[in-house]
Amino acid sequence: MIGGIELGGTKCVLAVANNPLDIIEKKIVPTRDPHSTISDIKSFFSNFNINMLGVGSFGPLVIDSGSADYGLLTTDSKRGWKGTNLVKELSRINKKIILDTDVNAAALGEYHYGAGKASETFVYVTIGTGIGVGVLIKGEPLLGNFHLEIGHMFVPNVDDFRGICRIHGSCWEGLASGPAINARWGIEPTELSINHKAWKKEAQLLSFGIVNIIANHSPDKIVLGGGVMNQKHLFEMIRLNVEDIWNGHTPLGDISNLILEPALDDNSGIVGSLSLAL
Ligand code: ZN
Repeated sequence: MIGGIELGGTKCVLAVANNPLDIIEKKIVPTRDPHSTISDIKSFFSNFNINMLGVGSFGPLVIDSGSADYGLLTTDSKRGWKGTNLVKELSRINKKIILDTDVNAAALGEYHYGAGKASETFVYVTIGTGIGVGVLIKGEPLLGNFHLEIGHMFVPNVDDFRGICRIHGSCWEGLASGPAINARWGIEPTELSINHKAWKKEAQLLSFGIVNIIANHSPDKIVLGGGVMNQKHLFEMIRLNVEDIWNGHTPLGDISNLILEPALDDNSGIVGSLSLAL
C-alpha cells in the first residue's frame, strides 16, 4: 500500500492506494497553519500501514534529496509555512518519502496516466490560486538549480493593472491567476458569465505565457489544469491566440493536440503524488 499527499495552498488531498489509479481511501482537509495541517495528515495516515509516501507540495521548497535541507519550505508563499521541513515532519508517518513540487507531481500524473502519455517533452500548467508549470523531459522533471518557477515569468502587461503577486506584482501569476482575475474585475471568476470580456483578457494573458513556454521548451503536449481552466471555453480562445501570436514560426501541428485538457480532471495532483511513491 502506498500513500500520497497533494499539499496545496488552500487544500490538502490525502490518499492511500494499491496503485495510483486504485485509490482505497481519500480525504481532503483545508491547508491551515503547519501544526494543525500536519496533525490532520498524521491522523489520516495513522489508520493505514503504508510502504512509501509520495508528496507533491507547494513551494518554493528544497527538493534536492542530497541536501541537508531536503523538504524545507524556503519562503512564506503560504503565510506561516516558511522554515517548515516537510520531510522531517512527515517522516513520523513514514521514513520513506519522495517529495516533489505540486505541479511536477501533477505533471507526472498526467504523463503516466492521463493526457501526457508518451510525450517526449511534456508541460503541465496549473492556473488556479497561483500559476505553476511542470516540465518533463522523457518523464523526468526538469529542475535546474532549485526548481522551475515559470509561473513567475514576466509577460506583456498591456494595461495599467498592477498585478497581485506578493513578490513581483505583475508577473504571469500576478496578472492571470484566479485571484488576479478577481482583483481585476472585482468578482469571483466562477461568477463571471461566459461572455464577459474578462475571459478574452484571460485567454490573451495565458497565451502570452504559453507562447513563451513553446519558445523555451518546444513541448509536444501542454496540458492546462487548475480551477481557472474549468472554464472550458478558454481552451479554444487560447489555441487561436497561441497560433496567432506564434505566427507559424515553427510548425505546431494540430493545435488541439498540442494544448489539451487534463485527462484526470482534478485528480492529476493526487495521482501524480501517489506515483512518486512507486
Ligand atoms: Zn511572481
